[in-house]
Amino acid sequence: MKTDRSPIPLFKVFLAPEDELMPRLRDVLYSGQISEGEPVYEFERRFAAFVGLPNVLSFYSGTAALHGALLLAGVKPGDEVISTPMTAEPTNMAIRHAGGEIVWADVDPSNGNLSAASIAERLTPRTRAIMVVHYGGIPASMRTIREAAEIAGVPVVEDAAHALGARYGNRPIGAFSEYTMFSLQAIKHMTTVDGGMLACKDPADLPRGRKLRWFGIDRQAPRTEVDVECIGYKYHMNNVNATIGLVQLDHVAPAIERHIANGRYFDTALRGIPGLELCTWDAEAEPSYWFYTVLAERRDDLARYLTEHGVGNSQAHKRNDLHSAFASSRRELPGLDSFYSRMLHIPCGWWVSDEDREFMVDTIRQGW
Ligand SMILES: *Cc1c(COP(=O)(O)O)cnc(C)c1O
Repeated sequence: MKTDRSPIPLFKVFLAPEDELMPRLRDVLYSGQISEGEPVYEFERRFAAFVGLPNVLSFYSGTAALHGALLLAGVKPGDEVISTPMTAEPTNMAIRHAGGEIVWADVDPSNGNLSAASIAERLTPRTRAIMVVHYGGIPASMRTIREAAEIAGVPVVEDAAHALGARYGNRPIGAFSEYTMFSLQAIKHMTTVDGGMLACKDPADLPRGRKLRWFGIDRQAPRTEVDVECIGYKYHMNNVNATIGLVQLDHVAPAIERHIANGRYFDTALRGIPGLELCTWDAEAEPSYWFYTVLAERRDDLARYLTEHGVGNSQAHKRNDLHSAFASSRRELPGLDSFYSRMLHIPCGWWVSDEDREFMVDTIRQGW
C-alpha cells in the first residue's frame, strides 16, 4: 500500500533557527580565532550546566572523547576492557585505539544494555575498565553495574552518545561513573556538526585531559616553557563547532523533551500488540529515547511493512562481535542473540508529530 504522506525518517539533524545561528557563525568564522579559544571554554561551562555535571571537557568527536576517557582511566596496551557488542563501532574502536583488549559481556535481551551479572563474570585481575552504553537512550542498570565495578575497583566509562537528557535515580546520566561521553555528531540529540563531551567525576582529570587532547601541551603555558611529558593527540574542539554548540544549547531542550514525550507515548500506545514486545528497564531509569526500539516476531517482515507505509526503520547497528577487526574477542552471547534477532528501531525524535505517531501506532496495530 502506498500513501501520500511524506515518509517519517528514523533520524533527522536538529539545528537552531538560521537567523540565530548564521550571524554567530559568520562572526566566529571571520574573527581570526577559529581554533580552541574562549567560545570552547564557554561551551564547556554551558554544556556542563545543561547536563548538570560539573567537570566537562570538549573533544572534536565522541570517539576522541572515549579514547581520552580510556587513557585517563589508565588503560594500557593489553589491558582488558569489558564492553558491549550492541552499539555503534566507535565504542569499541576507542578501546582498540587505547590498545585495550575487548572482553564482551552479554546484554539483557529485554533492552540490549549490558547485564551487570555478565560483567561480574568477566572481571579478571587484568580488567582495567568497563565500557557501558545506554543503547538507544535507555539507561543501563547503573546501580548493579556500579556494585560490580566497585567490588572490583575498576572505573566505568559510560558511552552516553544516545542518552543526552536521560536520567537514572533522579540524577542525570553520567552522575555515577568516572567518565561519561556525550556525542555531538550530526544525528545525535544535539549536534555541533561533530564533537564529543566528556564528563569526569574527578576534577583532577580536567588538566590531564586538556593536555591529552592537544599534543600533551598545556595551552595556557608559554610554548617554549612547556615540557611534553606524555603522548598527546589532536583531539580538541574548535571555536566554530563550539559556537554552533552555544546556539544549539539555547534551543535543544524542547527537542529532547519531544523525544521523551514521543517515547512515553509509544510505551503506552504500542502495548499489547500481538508479536510485538517493548523494551523494559530499571524503575530508576528515565530514557531519553534517541530512537524507539521494539522487539518483533518476524522482524524483517515488520521492517518491510513499515517501509512500505513510509515509516523509517532500521536495525541501525551491526552487533560489533561479528566484525573481523574484533574477531579475537568472540564468544557465546545468548542474550545478544535474542535481542539482535528481534530488535527494530522506529522514529520518535522531535520531528515526529502527534499525527505521525498516531499513524505509526495505527499502522503497526493493523499487523504485518
Ligand atoms: C555516535 C556514537 C559515538 C561517537 O561518535 P562520534 O561520531 O565520534 O561523535 C559513540 N558511541 C555510540 C554508541 C554512538 O552512537
